[in-house]
Amino acid sequence: MQLTYQPFELQLKHTFTIAKFSRTSTPLMLVQLTHEGQTGFGEASMVPYMGESHQSATEFLNKVDVSQFKYPIDFAAIIHYLDSIALGQPAIKAAIDIALHDLDGKLKGKPCWEIFGSDPANMPVTSYTIGIDTKNVILQKVKEAKGLKVIKVKLGRDSDKELIQTIRSVTNVPLYVDANQGWTDRKQSLDLIYWLQEQGVQLIEQPMLKTDIDGNAWITEHSPIPIIGDEAVQRLGDVTAAKGVYHGINIKLMKSAGMYEAKQMINKARELGLKILIGCMSETSCATLAAAVLAPQCDWADLDGPLLTINNPYQNPDMVNGKWVLNKKEGLGLDV
Ligand code: MG
Repeated sequence: MQLTYQPFELQLKHTFTIAKFSRTSTPLMLVQLTHEGQTGFGEASMVPYMGESHQSATEFLNKVDVSQFKYPIDFAAIIHYLDSIALGQPAIKAAIDIALHDLDGKLKGKPCWEIFGSDPANMPVTSYTIGIDTKNVILQKVKEAKGLKVIKVKLGRDSDKELIQTIRSVTNVPLYVDANQGWTDRKQSLDLIYWLQEQGVQLIEQPMLKTDIDGNAWITEHSPIPIIGDEAVQRLGDVTAAKGVYHGINIKLMKSAGMYEAKQMINKARELGLKILIGCMSETSCATLAAAVLAPQCDWADLDGPLLTINNPYQNPDMVNGKWVLNKKEGLGLDV
């Protein structure tokens, strides 16, 4: 196999502010793997707070010996090999894993969703994320979300209620809330959760610090709506510990090191009775389609990468009634 890659800067439509960070673009590494005339596409989205960068990704890729990659592809062995090169760096590992899955589908002449056993009829609607912002910008963003069936709101500041009221002044669509570890008092958080339930909020991500296991578990025990662990759950080894602390987990390919391990996480979560949200970072159509392949096996989807960015180098996937469409093309179904 032949590996090529290209650094890319993905520009966001709006400055994106969550409880702890703010940014206007995200560094990506676009990866291609070629074998017998077919090319698989992959992508690493390296949001700064996760610690990866163009430099760390380049250094990692320079250590990858693609002569290890044979067809038929042994995904478990390859993830094991990538983990042996360096600890961490799940995004650049995901880029390789996604490219391999796209290539695998093309070599088999099948769409990835069929290989993974996903039923396109079970595709959940995807939410559209609105970061923390001024009232006018929030209203502008809600306008842009027209046609989307769910809005996800980033909370975690003193102005949380005002932000929800601003959105509720113009739309009644269901809401998801992501506190990004920003809440500190469990009783105040629970009061807020009851209020949010009345506002049509259907789930809450990562209310308190991921290290505050007792605090998150207490909120989960008392909350009338599902509490989902995100920052607390990165890879397969973290899933079991989420049981009893959260109602469900947020799986992202950029945390799980790709599609192979994300599927293992889905299986593990189901075994433990955990709900599943499949989420994303700032991503192009490539990683979004890779997550969409697995989305029909999850309860909720938050795959809005291409909707929040302005220089996606690929065609946007088709969306119907707020759901990504899994097409019949081989591999991921990415139009380049
Ligand atoms: Mg989150």
